[in-house]
Amino acid sequence: MDKENILHDQWEREHLWHPYTSTINPLPTYKVDSAQGVRIRLADGRELIDGMSSWWCVIHGYNNPDINRAAVEQLARMSHVMFGGLTHEPAIQLGKTLLEIAPKSMHNIFYADSGSVAVEVAMKMAVQAAISRSGDHGKTNFVTIRSGYHGDTWNAMSVCDPVTGMHGAFGSALPIRYFVPQPRIPFGGEWEQSEMEALEMTLAEHHREIAAVILEPVVQGAGGMWFYHPQYLVETRRLCDKYGVYLIFDEIATGFWRTGRAFAWEHAGVEPDIMCLGKGLTAGYLTMSAVLTTKDVADTISKGEAGVMMHGPTFMANPLACAIAIESLKLLNSCDMSAKVAHIETVLKRELQPAESLPQVKDVRALGSIGVIEMKEPVDVGEFQKRCVERGIWVRPFGRMVYVMPPYIISDEDLVTLVSQMIDCIR
Ligand code: PMP
Repeated sequence: MDKENILHDQWEREHLWHPYTSTINPLPTYKVDSAQGVRIRLADGRELIDGMSSWWCVIHGYNNPDINRAAVEQLARMSHVMFGGLTHEPAIQLGKTLLEIAPKSMHNIFYADSGSVAVEVAMKMAVQAAISRSGDHGKTNFVTIRSGYHGDTWNAMSVCDPVTGMHGAFGSALPIRYFVPQPRIPFGGEWEQSEMEALEMTLAEHHREIAAVILEPVVQGAGGMWFYHPQYLVETRRLCDKYGVYLIFDEIATGFWRTGRAFAWEHAGVEPDIMCLGKGLTAGYLTMSAVLTTKDVADTISKGEAGVMMHGPTFMANPLACAIAIESLKLLNSCDMSAKVAHIETVLKRELQPAESLPQVKDVRALGSIGVIEMKEPVDVGEFQKRCVERGIWVRPFGRMVYVMPPYIISDEDLVTLVSQMIDCIR
């Protein structure tokens, strides 16, 4: 490495904070020069096959010519205008397209900045609507399932898993939520009604103070890469209706075909009252999210004390991000995504099989374009990533989970290399 690069790396280690990283003993970082398709090119010239889609959002791969063109065209018109009192074609067009593919009952769209902020907005919507509907100012709490992950902002953190999430670090600063056990029956397993007992008991006892149930439908992502039985959603919908609480689906990780369907709710066929979208929405180009809700929720909020939805970020409905999202949705609509993701799932299941017999592996599973190897012990991330980079792949494990979520454009050859090299690192 040349002198300039070494100096740069020292400066970066000393001054730049990376996600969940100590400043005293930071994990190594790899400097990226560029990225193209499913390949990340490091500053030293090495190329890595990307197994992460940059935390699950780069669904069409890097440097996509169609999205680049859409971005440049929008840049020439305007990259941003405020959404208070102004509107624009990209926001309208994106909204129309989202409502075409969203659950039928979705009617109103709130554009927000990131996944975490979408969760904040969804929770605020639920509270405003619940108070307006019931007239009870105490109907403000939430129930969620353990091992969930909903983001790093204050309220999103409060509904993350209380053990693996950030409750320990923030203690009594976080609002206290109701948690029920993680659904145990796996996707494809045999349904047992006893799975619902804890949620039913919690709602029966506390529904007067509960605004909504919030969960990630079918796939719990950063809380443990767990795929659970879709019937859980059917039963949760029934209980929410019975006890008069709203249902929020956080589809930030599962949306836009990641689980083999356009959205994970489709596995169960039940619709939420409020739905969060993010990550793949802008194909990894810019940060933007959207919260969708029913006309009933929207009107209930508007009839409430405030009379308005109390949120309005600076970058709301950023035109550049909207134009990029429209182009990404066009790309998704232009091919048979169901067949494409089903094929990725088949290859993942086949290629992950050799990991099943490894003594350090607890479980191996795949759904849609998500392939997971659950280890018995936590993985040393720094050491694991060093081995991955040496083998030409980019995989970032967390806790006991080693997984891939590649861009949908990955070729069979690259996918086979990615998975076999990942298993080699485990060996
Ligand atoms: N919800 C879910 C289900 C997520 O997976 C994530 C991000 N991993 C978030 C919310 C938060 O999104 P962001 O990082 O864009 O704030």
